[in-house]
Amino acid sequence: MPTLPQGLTAAAFAAAVAKFTAALGAERVVTSDEDVALYRDAYSPLWNEPGELVASAAVVPDSVEHVQAIVRIANEHRVPLYPIATGKNLGYGGSAPNLSGSVIVDMKRMNRILEVDESRGFALVEPGVSYFDIYRHIQERGLKLWIDCPDPGWGSLVGNALDHGVGYTFGPFRDHFGSHCGMEVVLPSGEIMRTGMGALPGAKSWQEYRYGFGPYVDGLFGQGNFGIVTKMGFWLMPEPEAYRSGVVLVPRRRDLVALVDQVNYLEHASLIGQPNYGSPLQRLVANEPELRAMLEKPGGPSDDELDRFAASRSQAVWQCELQFYGPERTIAGNWEYAKERLAAAIPGARFEDRESYRFPLSAQDKEGVPHKVALGIPNMAIFSIGARSDFNPNPRDGHLWFAPVIPKSGEAVLDCQRVLGEVYRELGMGGGAFLQTPATWHFRTFIMLVGFSVSRTDPAVNQRSLANFRRVVEVAAEHGWGEYRSPPVMADEIMSTYSFNDHVLRRFCETLKDAADPNGIIAAGRGGIWPRYLRERQP
Ligand SMILES: Cc1cc2nc3c(=O)[nH]c(=O)nc-3n(C[C@H](O)[C@H](O)[C@H](O)COP(=O)(O)OP(=O)(O)OC[C@H]3O[C@@H](n4cnc5c(N)ncnc54)[C@H](O)[C@@H]3O)c2cc1C
Repeated sequence: MPTLPQGLTAAAFAAAVAKFTAALGAERVVTSDEDVALYRDAYSPLWNEPGELVASAAVVPDSVEHVQAIVRIANEHRVPLYPIATGKNLGYGGSAPNLSGSVIVDMKRMNRILEVDESRGFALVEPGVSYFDIYRHIQERGLKLWIDCPDPGWGSLVGNALDHGVGYTFGPFRDHFGSHCGMEVVLPSGEIMRTGMGALPGAKSWQEYRYGFGPYVDGLFGQGNFGIVTKMGFWLMPEPEAYRSGVVLVPRRRDLVALVDQVNYLEHASLIGQPNYGSPLQRLVANEPELRAMLEKPGGPSDDELDRFAASRSQAVWQCELQFYGPERTIAGNWEYAKERLAAAIPGARFEDRESYRFPLSAQDKEGVPHKVALGIPNMAIFSIGARSDFNPNPRDGHLWFAPVIPKSGEAVLDCQRVLGEVYRELGMGGGAFLQTPATWHFRTFIMLVGFSVSRTDPAVNQRSLANFRRVVEVAAEHGWGEYRSPPVMADEIMSTYSFNDHVLRRFCETLKDAADPNGIIAAGRGGIWPRYLRERQP
């Protein structure tokens, strides 16, 4: 027996399924328990519990007309839908809906690459196109273009971008929603809308000028529930002639402030791609009780303590890897320039050369690249991190990500370390915060990422993770740091932290939702926005 949408009788649901089947064909309607179970969130913190968010069925359209038919039937029968692209959103809800009983609209069979323009640098794709698909397409045609991909290559350009996903090359391309241009959407009414220049019949620059005329509405469809996206354009990066990377190491804790200032300059001036911060002290934590004690004591180490410890072990406190893309001569010059600036700003800064490549790479060369996504090569290596091994005999079943946005400054990082250090201590999560460095996917902000374990066998682990997650979200919000993305189980709480002027952002979105989707059929609860008939569910 499927989990039915709230307020729908078994007979009414069966009638809707019969209409889906008539419109799409039986092979595109998924109803068996075994098949519907494939849409469970593999990282759900409510696995096998009554509150687990599960689908009632799935429909798998092949065309925009199919999507329109699905929306029409859903309106007639008040069936909530939940669209996914490739459905690989692990850590942020997988392919499960925000509202149990929703019918998944699985777009993976709409996987056509409609256009790739080499000289103008864009692609137009359907939602089922994965990073592997577009990469293969570009390689097979020998196009001098790069994609920017997230760590797991099996996801889709559309799904990843619509959840504000991120990658690893140059700033403007790493923000996948920010580097999209033009959408086609089936609205809750069933009408097809094209955004930006696409609104002009016969437009010649749909994938190049994003604003068209009038309000720019694309943002409503990112982490939103205002339609089902059926096409999306993306800007692509020209293949550079060469790549090189180098590392700068700085000796003192407070050097982080000047380090971030300098690296920001290099990045905002387009001289480097993604900078990667870290602390060489991290490697010592396991075997250095003195360091561990320092990190775990209330308030963490003083600047002096940490600096003295690092000096006594001949270690830098922080490091940052810089990545250069472009003509070989230019990037060699940029690396020299970066060294000059950093050495002048930070006494004692040291530098190490790292990788260097000329493109195109042979298949064998590609195999040897340690972090392939920095070169726009999709892969699945990231999953080896959590895999079973001698060092990790009992891997976790999954995780939830706490990912607050903080300012892109060294002061903000040090402040966030102190605040998180306190809350981690309160929650018994160890002293990791004092060496934690930010994730740098976004061009203009940092993220302080923390994973919370998920277990399929021990509900206590999940309860603890959810409670801890709630606490860090609350503390972060008190300091002006908000989540950029959320698993469905946390969406309402996170939206409620975006509360300026009595939650006017949410109320405005609800007003739009009620007008555009009066029956509340599209992705109820996505982004913390519920249709009128479900509002009482909010905290
Ligand atoms: C180990 C690990 C590493 C990861 N690394 C990264 C990373 O580097 N960068 C990153 O961004 N993410 C990362 N993720 C998260 C996630 O795996 C990726 O973001 C993935 O690309 C999302 O899955 P997808 O592309 O299949 O999107 P989907 O799951 O298909 O879609 C995501 C959401 O977008 C909406 N949506 C999708 N399609 C449509 C549509 N057609 N119309 C309307 N709404 C739609 C839905 O709400 C859907 O739930 C990681 C996860 C794990 C477990």
